[in-house]
Amino acid sequence: METYQVIAIIGVIIFLYFIFFKNKNSAQKEISSLSEIEYMGSSTMTFDDVAGNYEAKQSLLELVDFINNPQKYTKFNVRMPKGILLYGEPGTGKTLMAKALAGEAGVPFYAVSGSDFVQVYAGLGAGRIRNLFKKAKKSGKSVIFIDEIDAIGKKRAGGSIKGSDEGDRTLNALLTEMSGFADDSGTLVVAATNRIDTLDKALLRPGRFDRQIEIMLPDKNARKDIIQLYLKKMRAEDVNIDELADLTVYFSGAMIENLINEAGLAAIREGSDKITDRHIKQAYLDVLAGAEKKDYDNERQKTVTSYHEAGHAYVSRYLLPENKIIRVSVIPTSKGAGGYTLSTPGTEEVMTKRKIRNHLCVLMAGRASEEVFFGRDNITAGAQNDIEKVTSLALDYVSKYGMHDDAFINYQLLSDKLRIPLPSLESSVKKLTSEIYEEVYKIVEENREKVERIARVLMEKEVIYRDELDNLI
Ligand code: ADP
Ligand code: ZN
Repeated sequence: METYQVIAIIGVIIFLYFIFFKNKNSAQKEISSLSEIEYMGSSTMTFDDVAGNYEAKQSLLELVDFINNPQKYTKFNVRMPKGILLYGEPGTGKTLMAKALAGEAGVPFYAVSGSDFVQVYAGLGAGRIRNLFKKAKKSGKSVIFIDEIDAIGKKRAGGSIKGSDEGDRTLNALLTEMSGFADDSGTLVVAATNRIDTLDKALLRPGRFDRQIEIMLPDKNARKDIIQLYLKKMRAEDVNIDELADLTVYFSGAMIENLINEAGLAAIREGSDKITDRHIKQAYLDVLAGAEKKDYDNERQKTVTSYHEAGHAYVSRYLLPENKIIRVSVIPTSKGAGGYTLSTPGTEEVMTKRKIRNHLCVLMAGRASEEVFFGRDNITAGAQNDIEKVTSLALDYVSKYGMHDDAFINYQLLSDKLRIPLPSLESSVKKLTSEIYEEVYKIVEENREKVERIARVLMEKEVIYRDELDNLI
């Protein structure tokens, strides 16, 4: 071979190498920008893999049919949600639910996490969102899951024009993509968050994440189901499930799963071929030692909280029957509240004087109930949040609505006009709240058997739903 031929061949090789290398490089870039998208193919999870969460499962079950037969719904011009928001404590099974939805419907599952979008280069976040939807569209029907949506969907600061913000751009891309696909495409976007209170309202509007499903910490029955679900997968003997359900109060599904896994490990370490009650107890202590211990006596705390919430629930039914109570629970949330009475406002929107007073009564009913049943010296700090709300509403009542003592005054305006400091409202607000407290104290006292009945059921079950409450009263 002549030298020039060798040189030519080497040249061609280098040339080809460069082309190849360049292509490979850009291909790699493409892949890395997509790498955070988890593609599960068709999820093999079903709702049988999810224990508890009965109501949430029910609402998702309806959506399975919608994914499979979207025309059935669009034919009647029934608008089904495009976006579903699952919200609640971490580890309660939100991701699991979304996977189960895809599994039951037999469609591919695409997942990303909002936290992956934080601190990406300009334009990349929006590009990723578009990529995600492009991929999902290609497979026809699918479930697109966005975990930690609060990371991209935080409330925008006080309506300021911050359109150039990368977070805003990512959020806008998401909203555009969501309105972009047809109602009968059989694609659903499911998002999850632990912090629904921080979400931008734009996300919750119709046509976006307009169906919101709360995923709660499991109550006792749900905990039993979760325990059984995971014990079934292992070899277990003589496990006292009822007792374990009591022990695991305030645990999430993930924590229970972890506990049983630890028990399995303990059994294996010991060379035993079965999990017994002893392994569970050992794992329980290990898990507790790892978690933060509470320094109050749980039983006592639960009792007081039960009477507190029973007070709210009863007085709410008594004075504001048009507000539908959804549930009353004494399962604490991460926000530190010991219990919670969740109700939806009635359709009648007019806030009359009587209504506002009734509302104040309901807010104070927890504290009143504590005092009725345990005495003035034993009231607890559990009413802290209620007192905050009472103060704010009572202040409006006096200083804005002109409802107190016929003082027809907007105090803010008064002080602005007169260029003097705001007159002290303290005594008026104090007077109002003590009037109301007297009123609600009487109601609880006169109906103490009913309040007690609710409290006892709460101590036993931790959660009471609407129908049960109706039966109790
Ligand atoms: P979240 O998305 O709400 O933080 P995950 O879905 O990631 O919670 O839950 C983590 C794990 O905990 C699940 O994979 C599952 O093993 C277990 N788990 C949580 N809740 C449940 C439940 N209700 N039923 C069965 N397993 C659960
Ligand atoms: Zn309260």
